[in-house]
Amino acid sequence: MKKLISIIGPMYNEEAIVSQFCEETIKALAPISDRYDLELVLVDDGSKDGTIDQMRRVREIFPGVVTLVQLSRNFGLEGAIHAGLRMAAGDAVVAMDADLQDPPDVILKMVTEWENGADIVVGSRAGRPNDSVFKRLSAKLFYSTLDALSGKLHLEKEAANFRLLDRKALATLLALPEVNGVFRVVVPFLGMKTTVVSYDRDKRFAGETKYRLKSMIRYALDSLTGISIEPLRKIPAAAVISFILTLASIAGIFLMPGEWKPTFLICSVMSLLFSLLFFVLSVIAEYLGQVYTEVKRRPISLVYDFQPSDSSRKKVAHEIL
Ligand code: UDP
Ligand code: MG
Repeated sequence: MKKLISIIGPMYNEEAIVSQFCEETIKALAPISDRYDLELVLVDDGSKDGTIDQMRRVREIFPGVVTLVQLSRNFGLEGAIHAGLRMAAGDAVVAMDADLQDPPDVILKMVTEWENGADIVVGSRAGRPNDSVFKRLSAKLFYSTLDALSGKLHLEKEAANFRLLDRKALATLLALPEVNGVFRVVVPFLGMKTTVVSYDRDKRFAGETKYRLKSMIRYALDSLTGISIEPLRKIPAAAVISFILTLASIAGIFLMPGEWKPTFLICSVMSLLFSLLFFVLSVIAEYLGQVYTEVKRRPISLVYDFQPSDSSRKKVAHEIL
């Protein structure tokens, strides 16, 4: 039997792109159709327009390819991707934006990487010639902040949701108990053999973006708080800065002329109080970080390969699977 590749297309109010997405993707994967079966997992994220009717229509046209997943309401992109990941049956699964901004022919390159042994293939946006200056700048700021806060995790540059996951990687991701996992920051946690394919992001085929400023900020915050407890660990720096100011102010009391002494006295008392406050906050933040980590219940490590000795009683071949 041929291996199956599942492509997940999350859609919210995208009636104008459903059939184009299916046709373009099927066409793009035609060169490997002799080796692989294709499944298009169309996820309707509680659309209010005719998206679901369009999905039913294309399912009638391509019953051998289209899997339809209708969510009970709008859960947002992360919810839609997760539903697609849960329902996809593929040996490899590709998540992508359904508005054709992620070009379907890039999937061929991803599949080649997968055939060469990659467990995860990450699409990295080499260029965004069609995005506005604001979108480009905000994305740059977002990705560099994310990178700075990523701790031990390795994040690929400019990588969003366009990713291929081997079944082994997908099973591990789905086994994670966390509820609020942002796909693009959970995948790096899996580690495994990861390669990168770069691509230029195209223009949206039709319809309009669902990410206005407010939802972009919400999404950025979910990603930033989802990646690690690093921001909490930055609070002690504020305590140190305040304490340095205290020392400088005390020095000012002794070194500056008489009329300045009361000012420096007030400054030193204020900054001392602030450093105490930040110190207390740092202690609380440290505990909060522990609570966050425990609540997520992520495994502390993931075993990728395990070769027990003949005398070992443990016979599990893969913890990951
Ligand atoms: N999307 C979704 N649920 C939402 C919002 C968006 O499934 O609540 C889908 C949308 O239909 C598209 C993808 O997520 O396929 C990316 O959304 P969009 O193109 O609006 O984002 P942008 O590319 O502008 O960042
Ligand atoms: Mg888009």
